[in-house]
Order: sequence, then C-alpha cells, then structure tokens
Amino acid sequence: FVKIKNAAKSFGNLQVLKDINLTVDRGQIVAIIGPSGSGKSTLLRAINELDPLTSGEVWLEGVQINRHLPPRQYEAHVNQVRQDIGMVFQHFNLFPHLTVRGNITLAPRMLKGLTEAQANALVEEQLTKVGLLEKIDEYPSRLSGGQKQRVAIARALAMKPKVMLFDEATSALDPELVEEVNMVMKQLADEHMTMIIVTHEMDFAASVCDRVLFMDQGVVVEEGPPSVIFQNPVEERTRNFLRKHL
Ligand code: ATP
Ligand code: MG
Repeated sequence: FVKIKNAAKSFGNLQVLKDINLTVDRGQIVAIIGPSGSGKSTLLRAINELDPLTSGEVWLEGVQINRHLPPRQYEAHVNQVRQDIGMVFQHFNLFPHLTVRGNITLAPRMLKGLTEAQANALVEEQLTKVGLLEKIDEYPSRLSGGQKQRVAIARALAMKPKVMLFDEATSALDPELVEEVNMVMKQLADEHMTMIIVTHEMDFAASVCDRVLFMDQGVVVEEGPPSVIFQNPVEERTRNFLRKHL
C-alpha cells in the first residue's frame, strides 16, 4: 500500500537517510522509534513530499509519489498527494486566525470545491469523531493543547486521507492531555486507518502498532512486531535505546 524503496536523503554533506526500505500494508499501523536526529521526521516528511528524497522511491497504492514533473503538473500532483496522506505534527500548526470550523474546512473547500453546507456537514462529522463538536466556533488560542491536537487530527481526516502520518503528536502536551489524543489515535486504529506513527511513547506503540521500526543514524536498525522489538530485540543498538526509554 505504502512502499519506500532505497530512500536516501542528504542535507548538504549530511546524509540523514541511508537506504531505507519500508512497506506498510493497507490498515497496518507502524511505529517508528529512535534517538533524536536519527531521521524519523525526515522520513515522514519525505513520504508526503514536504521534503523530497535525494534518491529512492515512495509509492502509494501503486502510484509513485516522488515523481519528477514539470512545475504545474508537479503542483497538481502534490496537492493530490497531500489529500491522500494526512499529517499531524508535534506543534499542531493550526491557523490562529481561523476558528476550528475554518481550520477544518479550508483545505476541503479549496481543493475539493465543497459547498458551505457540505463543508459544515464534514466539519461536524469530523469534530464528533474527536469529541469536540462544542468547540466548532472557537479559536485555537482558546483550546487546550490536547484539544488543539484533536482539531489538527480532525483537519487531516477531513480530507479523507488514505494514510495518516503522526510526528510525535503527543510530545508537546502536558502528561494529563496525552491520553485524550492517544484515544483518538486508537479509535482510528480500530477503524483500520493505515498509519505511520513516530513516537517516544513505547507503551502506546506497543498497544496499537502492528510493527515497530527502530531507526538510528538514518538506517532502520531493526524491525518487527512490538512483542519482539520491545521485549526481545536482537540488535545491541536497539537494546541500548530501549534501556533508556522504557
Ligand atoms: P527528533 O527525535 O529530535 O525529532 P528525528 O529523528 O526526527 O529527531 P530529523 O528531524 O529527521 O530527526 O533529523 C535528522 C537529521 O537531519 C538531524 O541531524 C537534523 O539536524 C538534520 N536535518 C533535519 N532537517 C534539516 C534541514 N532542513 N536542513 C539541514 N539539516 C536537517
Ligand atoms: Mg523528529
């Protein structure tokens, strides 16, 4: 469903990703763990062309995402990619000057040409999902961190993506707000959303993910089911990392 082949990425002389290969089946949930600077965010950002690879291939449902196209075609192509692949960031990235409704409906109205009525139905559906319908006309500055992140998730879901990418969606939150966001992600997992989740929360990864990848210095050191990676990892580097993080 999602396929990454021989992915490599450099920033100048710094090689951040080195020959990464990853296949995610439809409905599968993959966690990516690893030390700071290992390339986790870079890999996620490459998947939806926010930060294209230096070399290698990214595929979604048999279509290559990182294609070289003339500028106008590329723009249309990337717009489609961003509709198919939703992304949630550590720092929410909500538009401060728009209400919750405005944040969620902006992209669907622009890219899918929804009418106001359709957009309103969509925003109500998505906010109900994340349990925030009562905040529909609120501005982001008046929401808690957990609520902001749930709005960010609703905004991504409003595009009806095929895949969701989460980059440390809970690591900027106060501990008591983490659970409400995790609950929303668990609910998506129950609905068989295909997800790639970068996280520092090993318990959460173990409870919702089908597979865990441990990355270090731009390579996938080890991958497997959570039971193996967390309880019986083979590689010394994985063990060292987990000793510090479990
Ligand atoms: P963290 O757990 O701290 O979020 P990460 O695994 O997500 O770390 P990345 O953000 O992917 O790590 O960064 C990997 C490496 O790439 C780091 O050494 C970082 O400094 C470098 N890097 C990331 N983005 C850029 C950029 N735009 N320009 C130059 N170097 C970058
Ligand atoms: Mg990161």
